[in-house]
Amino acid sequence: MAEKPNKNLIITIDGPSGAGKSTVARMVALALGYRYIDTGAMYRGVAYAYKILCDVRKDSDNMEQFLRNLPIRFEFENEARVFLEVEDISEKIRDPEISLLASKLSQERSVREYLTVLQKEAGKNGGVVLEGRDMGSVVFPDAHLKFYLDANQDERAKRRHLELSSKGIQSLQSVVKDEMQKRDKDDSERKIAPLVIPEHAIYIDTSELDARGVVDSILNVIFESEE
Ligand code: C5P
Repeated sequence: MAEKPNKNLIITIDGPSGAGKSTVARMVALALGYRYIDTGAMYRGVAYAYKILCDVRKDSDNMEQFLRNLPIRFEFENEARVFLEVEDISEKIRDPEISLLASKLSQERSVREYLTVLQKEAGKNGGVVLEGRDMGSVVFPDAHLKFYLDANQDERAKRRHLELSSKGIQSLQSVVKDEMQKRDKDDSERKIAPLVIPEHAIYIDTSELDARGVVDSILNVIFESEE
């Protein structure tokens, strides 16, 4: 297997929460020497900023004005880092409260437009793996390769619960499952850029696979596409 694709590809990975997207996207990017763009972290960053600045800024009821003056910055290396002014908020955005607020704000047209511009800029030169809910459907519909990861609900709730525990966030698996179902429903039913299987995306059910297995099948598809 070649070490790196010949071209600087744009690769998208979409799917619901807990399907293993982040782990897999990070590992695929690492294997290819590509940048990993975690677009969920961007929605979470805006949500966290909204929560904090709501109390101190008068313009937060006007979303466009709020976004225009937003002192947020994203850095994408092997892990997404998010800064609000000078504060690194990368851990704080993982809180379950922020997950729900991110999902709520992601229904706002102005928020989607604001982040879509940044995502297009981040991916336009290729050599990227972009992970999210609308990467292959809206942001990069002409991406070289698109994947959609899914898994059954119990498995996804189990993974999400483990992920939160590993970050020191304690919660019951049943509560995690309820929160996840609400988010998936909202993300799939929203009017703008809902979670869908993008056209031409390769669907992978990860329920019975570990991350390494999913990464290997994605890498196989990538290198076969070059032959
Ligand atoms: O992937 P993650 O759980 O970090 O995403 C948090 C929320 O951000 C999602 O539930 C979804 O509402 C929103 N999101 C989105 N479009 C993306 C990435 C995330 O609407 N491309």
